[in-house]
Amino acid sequence: MHRDPPRVEARGSVPIGGETVPYEIVRSPRARHIRLRVGPDPILRIIAPPAARLGAIPHLLEPHGSWILRQLAAFQTAPGTPPHPIQPGQALPFLGASLCLRITAGPPAKLTVARQGDLLVVHLPDGDDHLLPAALEAWYRDQARAVLHQRASHWSARLGLAFGRLSIRDQRTRWGSCSSEGNLNFSWRLVMAPMDVLDYVVIHELTHLRIPNHSPRFWQEVARHCPAYREHIGWLKDHGDSVSGFLRT
Ligand SMILES: [Zn+2]
Repeated sequence: MHRDPPRVEARGSVPIGGETVPYEIVRSPRARHIRLRVGPDPILRIIAPPAARLGAIPHLLEPHGSWILRQLAAFQTAPGTPPHPIQPGQALPFLGASLCLRITAGPPAKLTVARQGDLLVVHLPDGDDHLLPAALEAWYRDQARAVLHQRASHWSARLGLAFGRLSIRDQRTRWGSCSSEGNLNFSWRLVMAPMDVLDYVVIHELTHLRIPNHSPRFWQEVARHCPAYREHIGWLKDHGDSVSGFLRT
């Protein structure tokens, strides 16, 4: 079926959190709903279905202000420069929400990372924040192991598909994969995504245990358990760069 290519409808700039952010409105026949995208250039793109009404742009963007600024900061970093340092008060993505980073120092002498409601408290006995990225990654990996084991067991029972071992990795280019022996691999970075996106990846890999390709039958099978899978693929496309760049040194 012929479809018109996406087209830039308007360009402008909008104040967000004291910064002036350049944006483009892109009308795309493939878009099912309005979404925001940043990168690879530091421009905010508002991607909308052809007939969607956007209303006032500042009003539309207001709830997403801090997300937009974080994305722009990530893409404004020139190649070769060190990644944006992690700072107290920073929002850390976790299962579709965000945790606020708090750092404590002093006794006791053990480095710990603990979630307290919406806070993620990292205790650095010597106040040595060089240890921070590794401590955060270890915490994310622990969460990923627990959450992905739980979700894989849940969906394995629902789909009637047994898997072998489950491994947590840091795969740069893939969210998940499966082996011919029935083992599943997932990126720990999936716990930065909302739970239904994570579930989609689990369902995708489990379904491969029965159908090892991306045929129409495969997608039908995925859709039976995950009707909104296209939206989840869209989320992974939109956020993949920032999620895979997080804590990357
Ligand atoms: Zn696949």
